[in-house]
Amino acid sequence: MSVRVRLAPSPTGNLHIGNARTAIYNFLFAKKMQGSFIIRVEDTDLERSTKEFEQNQMEDLKWLGLQADESPANPGEFAPYRQSERLELYKDYAQKLLDEGKAFYDFCSDEELQIMSEKAKSEGTSPYTGKWKKAEHWDEAKSRVAAGEKAPIRFLVPDKAYSFKDYVRGEVKFPAGMVGDFVILRSNGMPTYNFCNVVDDALQKMTHIIRGEDHTNNTLRQLMIYEALDFDIPEFAHVSLLIGEDRQKLSKRHGVTSVRQYREDGYLPEALFNYLCLLGWSHPEEKDVFNWQDIANDFSLTRFSKSHAIYDVEKLKWINGQHIKNMEAEELLQKVRPFIKNEFFHSQTKEWQLSFVSLFQDKVQLLKEFESKINEYVLFESLNSSSELDEIMGWETTPQIQDHVKAELAKIDTDFIQAEDLDSWMNYCKKELKIKGKPLFMGFRGVLTGMNHGPDLKVLVPLTPVSLLKKRLGV
Ligand code: GLU
Repeated sequence: MSVRVRLAPSPTGNLHIGNARTAIYNFLFAKKMQGSFIIRVEDTDLERSTKEFEQNQMEDLKWLGLQADESPANPGEFAPYRQSERLELYKDYAQKLLDEGKAFYDFCSDEELQIMSEKAKSEGTSPYTGKWKKAEHWDEAKSRVAAGEKAPIRFLVPDKAYSFKDYVRGEVKFPAGMVGDFVILRSNGMPTYNFCNVVDDALQKMTHIIRGEDHTNNTLRQLMIYEALDFDIPEFAHVSLLIGEDRQKLSKRHGVTSVRQYREDGYLPEALFNYLCLLGWSHPEEKDVFNWQDIANDFSLTRFSKSHAIYDVEKLKWINGQHIKNMEAEELLQKVRPFIKNEFFHSQTKEWQLSFVSLFQDKVQLLKEFESKINEYVLFESLNSSSELDEIMGWETTPQIQDHVKAELAKIDTDFIQAEDLDSWMNYCKKELKIKGKPLFMGFRGVLTGMNHGPDLKVLVPLTPVSLLKKRLGV
């Protein structure tokens, strides 16, 4: 049987990094098993779900490279892929449960339910003790519904223990009596999560359910529905939660939690993918920088960690920096351009831009950091005095270098010099003025940039407009 896994996002907000991680695990498992990765939108919470959030989430999943084999936009054999378009199905299955005596209409009032729940809390009785669970009242309930009254349908919870085997948590056991008869279909005809989720996973033939640990307890109610509807039970992997450094569940307090924000802040999708993948899963060879194509074959459900994964944005930044460093300059330039506002940058040739991006690609962690490098290293007119510069200027050879560079710059009437020009100026100082080693290299750097360290001078100086070099040296 071919593997089928899914992400079942609720479109009630932007894509959260926790859900993105769940999507990544499902996607990788599908790739590894040559199965299918499906996106099913769980939009039955009509008040909180919006089309806009759905679209945002779909865009962000696509941006991360998580192409689905079946989804609302790319429906397959088991359409529709949006729960709000499957409501009739849930009604049919709820009806089946009613017909088989496995569910009942509940006519208890809110007050009665309130009393029941308080009693359950204080006396430890079953959470639902209403009279409607007794078969003797079912005919009455059905005729009230036939006469037009509305009532929710509750599942009649069997009095037995349940258990399932989880890839991460091992054997998970639920003793009898943990939950009361729960609503599966509200009086307005909308299904509840535990019910429609199971109906869909079964009808859409999911083989493995990979999702967050916070859903472990829901699995109890879901197992009951699988059993009652005689559906095949899939395998489960409940992956550990993401937590902040204070060991609390990851939330907005811990900083950015939406994929969209990382995208806007200049993180690369492959880096976010890479980092999220490592939060709770480890590579068999402990690799920590990779693209999904490198690891899909090594992915397995047995390498998930049982303990919570601490979200560490500094590690994410580092991984982002590694991906920037490993990228082809052409591709990197495409990604950097939208993050640069500087007009000077945009008015330069592509060759200039490629050279600039290559020069700094191993010195930044975020795409937006390229912008500040323009002013920091290229577009300044005067050399800031500093103790480093003073030291270099104090060497007896430096004024000689300065004089030579000034004389050479005065002869230049092009916008930029070439690396060869700088080479020949240096050669002159070496051969004719006998300046070597540190005094030569640091002398040139000091005189031209006012700094005592920085990126390769033979790339940096040809990127700097000659007009600015002249101003710096007072030519
Ligand atoms: N709609 C649910 C959620 O977003 C799906 C959970 C599940 O994967 O079963 O949390």
